[in-house]
Amino acid sequence: MSAHSVLSPQSSVLVIIPAAGSGSRLGGEIPKQFRMLSGAPILQRVIDRFAGDPRVAHVVIAVAVPADMKPAERVRFVAGGATRQESVIRALAAAEGEFDLVAVHDAVRPFFKTTTFHALLDAAAEHGAAFPAMAVTDTIHIARDGRLVSTPERAQLVAAQTPQCFRMAILRDVLEKAQRDGVGGTDEAGLAARYGYDVRVLPGDAANFKITRAEDLAYAESHFEELSAP
Ligand code: C5P
Repeated sequence: MSAHSVLSPQSSVLVIIPAAGSGSRLGGEIPKQFRMLSGAPILQRVIDRFAGDPRVAHVVIAVAVPADMKPAERVRFVAGGATRQESVIRALAAAEGEFDLVAVHDAVRPFFKTTTFHALLDAAAEHGAAFPAMAVTDTIHIARDGRLVSTPERAQLVAAQTPQCFRMAILRDVLEKAQRDGVGGTDEAGLAARYGYDVRVLPGDAANFKITRAEDLAYAESHFEELSAP
């Protein structure tokens, strides 16, 4: 961290895991975050990674049905909302106490690297917001009604991952403004940039993919050991 950094390396960290989605793209009855991966639910694996991190003070998970779960100390469940953004808002509102930094992490990315997470926290402490991203290898077109409309320059495109890290005041501010303006985003980094904050892009990890489709889960299962490397 640089000398002008506002927050110390010991900043208290809240982790929010939106996990209230239905996971329809994976198929089956059980939402993807509750599917088993090498003997434990995917969400459990994500929670354990954060709960075992000494930099994390508190974890709040937004789920569709919060009843009947016995979370570990520092971990709690709240009822999520109709959208991911709504789930994050509810989790943030339910967090007890003040934290310097907040990380929002998809429930279905069990293979994030702790070194990446900590680098993101440090960048968020220094600049306000940071997220991990991968360069795009496919050409991405904008299409409408089955027709190609335009083609953004590939070199400028990145694919966003999580954990997305923010100073708590910034995440609060952008979520409030988005609510006020009726703006819905598929991630919080995009909202922070929209409202003028400095959002830093750090290198992501190929292993930190989002388990979305059935083949993702099969790949995660068959490569579990190598993907789990810290
Ligand atoms: O749909 P997508 O893959 O972008 O969802 C990302 C994350 O947001 C998932 O962890 C999902 O469970 C969560 N989510 C949520 N509440 C919703 C919809 C999605 O917490 N209503």
